[in-house]
Amino acid sequence: MRTLRRRLHMAECIIEKHTDADGLSELEEKQRIIDEAPFARLKIKDTNWLGLVEFRRKCDFCQRSRKFFCYTCYHPVIPCSYFPRVKLPIKIDIIKHSREIDGKSTAVHAAILAPEDVKIYTYPDFPEILNKEETVLVFPSKDSARNMSVEDLFIREGRKCDASEERTVFPIKRAIFIDSTWQQTKSIYKDQRLRELRCVILKSRISQFWRHQKKSPRWYLATIEAIHQFLVELHTCALGVEEDYDKFDGSMESEKSEEFSDEHSVTNNEEIMQKYNGQYDNLLYFFKYMYEKIHSIYNHNRLQAYRRPLA
Ligand SMILES: [Zn+2]
Repeated sequence: MRTLRRRLHMAECIIEKHTDADGLSELEEKQRIIDEAPFARLKIKDTNWLGLVEFRRKCDFCQRSRKFFCYTCYHPVIPCSYFPRVKLPIKIDIIKHSREIDGKSTAVHAAILAPEDVKIYTYPDFPEILNKEETVLVFPSKDSARNMSVEDLFIREGRKCDASEERTVFPIKRAIFIDSTWQQTKSIYKDQRLRELRCVILKSRISQFWRHQKKSPRWYLATIEAIHQFLVELHTCALGVEEDYDKFDGSMESEKSEEFSDEHSVTNNEEIMQKYNGQYDNLLYFFKYMYEKIHSIYNHNRLQAYRRPLA
């Protein structure tokens, strides 16, 4: 805990340094560069396939007309060859607020792209928490003593888990996310069943979500962004990051890939055990497509969502 507090303090100092010396200008300038091409360094399959979808189709389950997937049944309506699938190293449960508007939530992206590992519950429906030790809630607790970073999950009984012990590569088996607006989240968070879980806070990342939320800061991530960020941190702590990954220049995008054969679209178990090299980046497949679509219609700087303060 002492290390965590020290780290938090350091983070505060860094933020203070930015704000004291130059106002927010340095931070804003950095973010402006990221905002110019936010997905360029991620390994996301060619999203142009989605642009070829002209007609809406009926969902097999509820018969409602949908474009890519049914956000009520969490089921795709386009052929599987139009989108990649992602294998995750742990199970993800998402608790959705009943008043959250289905069509606007990005939680469903995770259920479509990683159907084996993601489950969505509509509150008060709740995932069964079988093992509190192996489950975390990705949400900042008000009680700062309960908060830990992903890195802290790897420190147990004073020793760091050895990456060579296959069974302990990932220190948890399940992570719970809350999918709701900044305001609604608080009511789910108060649920007693979540109170006993350790809370994980993510490293600071600025949202690229186009949907404006009243009073939410720009570091409040869309659910799919938070899941991606969490898995990248978890994987990197367990197995490290491939040297070339950060140098990735987005050239995969120009490859105009052929349809996704099963072989390429599903990350297999062997890939999951390698250093981080973009294994979960495809979770942002629909998010990237929709981001680009919105940006082809609206000017980024005029969208209210991106004009929120960074800190
Ligand atoms: Zn449906």
